[in-house]
Amino acid sequence: MNKTLIIGAGGVGRVVAHKCAMNADIFGAITLASRTKSKCDQIASEIKSVKIDTRSVDADSIEELIALIRDVQADIVINVALPYQDLTIMDACIATGVDYLDTANYEHPDEAKFEYKEQWARDEAFREAGIMGLLGSGFDPGVTNVFCAYAQKHYFDEIHTIDILDCNAGDHGYPFATNFNPEINLREVSANGRYWEDGKWIETEPMEIKMVWDYPEVGPKDSYLLYHEEMESLVKHIKGLKRIRFFMTFGESYLTHMKCLENVGMLGIEPVEHQGQKIVPMEFLKTLLPDPASLGPRTKGKTNIGIVAEGIKDGQKKKIYIYQVSDHEKCYEEVKSQAVSYTTGVPAMIGAKLMLEKVWYKEGVHNMEEFDPDPFMEELNKQGLPWKIQELE
Ligand code: NDP
Repeated sequence: MNKTLIIGAGGVGRVVAHKCAMNADIFGAITLASRTKSKCDQIASEIKSVKIDTRSVDADSIEELIALIRDVQADIVINVALPYQDLTIMDACIATGVDYLDTANYEHPDEAKFEYKEQWARDEAFREAGIMGLLGSGFDPGVTNVFCAYAQKHYFDEIHTIDILDCNAGDHGYPFATNFNPEINLREVSANGRYWEDGKWIETEPMEIKMVWDYPEVGPKDSYLLYHEEMESLVKHIKGLKRIRFFMTFGESYLTHMKCLENVGMLGIEPVEHQGQKIVPMEFLKTLLPDPASLGPRTKGKTNIGIVAEGIKDGQKKKIYIYQVSDHEKCYEEVKSQAVSYTTGVPAMIGAKLMLEKVWYKEGVHNMEEFDPDPFMEELNKQGLPWKIQELE
């Protein structure tokens, strides 16, 4: 029987735990570990079909991680803590010879910059240890990479442009809240935009480029160009690519709040002196904002995330749109989480399932688009994230 270790008991961790339990024939004995054990216990108590073992762990400590992985004799570690913990968890997997999966690329807590460099640098160590690391198995990155690989495999001889289009039209009723970890979310959104064209990265001011996209089942929405991590691996792996961009929708209220918070310094990640104490403004803001996990019961509306790819097939121009629509309330009904956590947690479970089944298995550190997209696309349909394809031209 397999043994599965999930690290991180936040919004995404809850979905992963529920979904692994629904596929217990593959995941076997499931342990959920996080900094705060009571959060693991809460999630475990919601799952009636199998018993989930719960532990506390500080995932910044390689020693603690190694001891935990050895103790539960894990076959795979699903990392759904924060991007800050990616490297320590990867190193603990190397030390113990256990496969690794995450949903977001490494970020240093003191620098709002994310890139694959340090994770890719562990490729050789993973090979030497005879283990696999699957990076970015969430929705975006994750499913969006698989959509690109699927488009390349079945629809194009060459893909020339890709636009990744991420819409969350959910309404939680608060004037301002973030749908996943506020620190990670606000750091991403307030950073400069960046896209890739003709072999180089082009930087924009934050929110400088805007377009309106008509999202099926949602409607037209303002969509802003952001840098997003899956582009870094897709430019390496999609042949013939000339341009790739990423757009995300934001409402007026969200952007106005964010601008005000930024203007008064609340998005700062450097400590400031406050009445004899050092505080990090962004961390304090996180304390004030609603816990993303608490948004589940109040969020209504849908998400629609997809890719538009243009290129050539048999000498003809072609343009397709692959997308997935999720409903916040339905997600909550199923696993007690809103759609942003759901659409991240389900692909994390699917990636881990394919690894345990050895359907997707290659030693070393890999991104999603390096594997045959077909089994993953089939699982999406079976596990709660059905997708659609439209031929636009
Ligand atoms: P949350 O903040 O809700 O949960 C993170 C969890 O990790 C918390 O339970 C937290 O513990 C735990 N944690 C943090 N630091 C440590 C530590 N040092 N040791 C042990 N546990 C720790 O985040 P989400 O669930 O929303 O996000 C989880 C991951 O998913 C993030 O990496 C995020 O970037 C990624 N993500 C990826 C997406 C994608 O599509 N690819 C989309 C959305 C998110 P505590 O409760 O004690 O604070």
